[in-house]
Amino acid sequence: MKIAVVGTGYVGLVTGTCFAETGNHVICVDIDKAKVDKLSAGQITIYEPGLEKLFLRNQKEGRLHFTTSLEDAVKDAKVIFLALPTPPGENGSADLKYILGVANHLGKLINPGDYKIIIDKSTVPVGTADKVRDTILKSAAEASPPGGGLEGASFAVVSNPEFLREGVAVDDFMKPDRVVIGTGSEKAKKILLDLYAPFVRQGNPIIFMDEKSAELTKYAANSFLATKITFMNEIAQLCERMGADVDMVRKGMGSDERIGKRFLFPGIGYGGSCFPKDVQALVQSANEIDYDFKILNAVMDVNEKQKLHLLPKIKAYFNNNLKGKKIALWGLAFKPNTDDIREAPALYIIEELLKEGAEVNAYDPEAMNNVKAILGDTIIFSERQYDALTDADVLVIATEWSEFRTPDFEKIISLLKNKVIFDGRNLFDLKFMEDMGFYYVSVGRRTVK
Ligand code: NAD
Repeated sequence: MKIAVVGTGYVGLVTGTCFAETGNHVICVDIDKAKVDKLSAGQITIYEPGLEKLFLRNQKEGRLHFTTSLEDAVKDAKVIFLALPTPPGENGSADLKYILGVANHLGKLINPGDYKIIIDKSTVPVGTADKVRDTILKSAAEASPPGGGLEGASFAVVSNPEFLREGVAVDDFMKPDRVVIGTGSEKAKKILLDLYAPFVRQGNPIIFMDEKSAELTKYAANSFLATKITFMNEIAQLCERMGADVDMVRKGMGSDERIGKRFLFPGIGYGGSCFPKDVQALVQSANEIDYDFKILNAVMDVNEKQKLHLLPKIKAYFNNNLKGKKIALWGLAFKPNTDDIREAPALYIIEELLKEGAEVNAYDPEAMNNVKAILGDTIIFSERQYDALTDADVLVIATEWSEFRTPDFEKIISLLKNKVIFDGRNLFDLKFMEDMGFYYVSVGRRTVK
């Protein structure tokens, strides 16, 4: 099948590459010329495990192309995926200017004789498929042929939200838990069933529904997950104050099948490009119909505070004076196995540490270039994990990269001025840290002194 993917960021590049992998002919389009040039030259633009191999293979086989021309990309495509940004607008609602801008352009490009399916893969508020359809029809009506004279029957607008997780995006795309497709069109259903068939061979469902339900499903899923994490972060607060251990509580709770073991790990808040903006957008959508989504308002509030959960503890250790203190920081990405730093808790911690007059020496396996681009030389970046510790007073851990899980503790002790670790991801065993003689602060567990 001939496919166009509009927007070649995290979702667009993974979507395009994975559809090429199952034999489709894919053209990815992006307005960022530098990105398109780089991709066309065979250089991957994001770090995502397993992606580069598929990207190179499919490019070599001539199934995966990149362009800045929307016209070239959609000319022969039967299916057009929109993987465009939906950032928060002024009031927190999703800004649809990228989606509707492209829809407007598509109205002028679609030929009435060719049936095309336009698919919202971006996370968009309920009603967006209708807006995309209306925008295409309006812009087509204004255009001279090919767009002029377009009728509703010449195209379908479908909602197909994406559930991939950064860090395991290729696996999630190739073997999704489910595929959600919102459409009333039988013709579109049949085509998408064929397109997705190779991805659901193990029996995971393709769930068909109406467009609005599909749009809301994505927000509901992300908001629920953000709530689950936040709930555990509040339980962790209680544990610290009551002398309980959140690891025990987590295990005790999670073995109830109704609750489940996953997503119960407390930490220093959720970040990333999705949860923060999606929770906010759902709250705003609810506000617009005069519904006060109380739980999600509380989730946002708690999460803001949670990102700085370690700060008062770090300050207390230094008697409230961080001036000139050298802080080693492991982890910048908002989670492991990605170089994405959008809304990463580490950035909030750095900002506060710098405000307090501390110096930060950071290491991250993949995300340092992205942080350098926004923080410049306000902090030091160490090319190697242990270099960040040289002469540092304490170590702070903000991301649970695997390589931080079983570090060389003797080396840590020999490099740090003090045997002190503030761990926002609960990586280490308390008894072990006690035996090693560390001062060790984690989340929802007793402080080891
Ligand atoms: P991104 O910012 O990584 O990529 C978006 C791309 O679109 C950029 O490369 C940008 O240059 C390009 N673009 C902007 N305007 C364009 C235009 N007019 N024509 C062509 N390209 C244009 O965003 P992302 O993380 O891939 O997210 C895209 C959407 O998918 C968002 O709605 C997001 O909420 C949703 N989503 C993201 C994830 C994730 O993990 N990142 C997961 C599921 C869903």
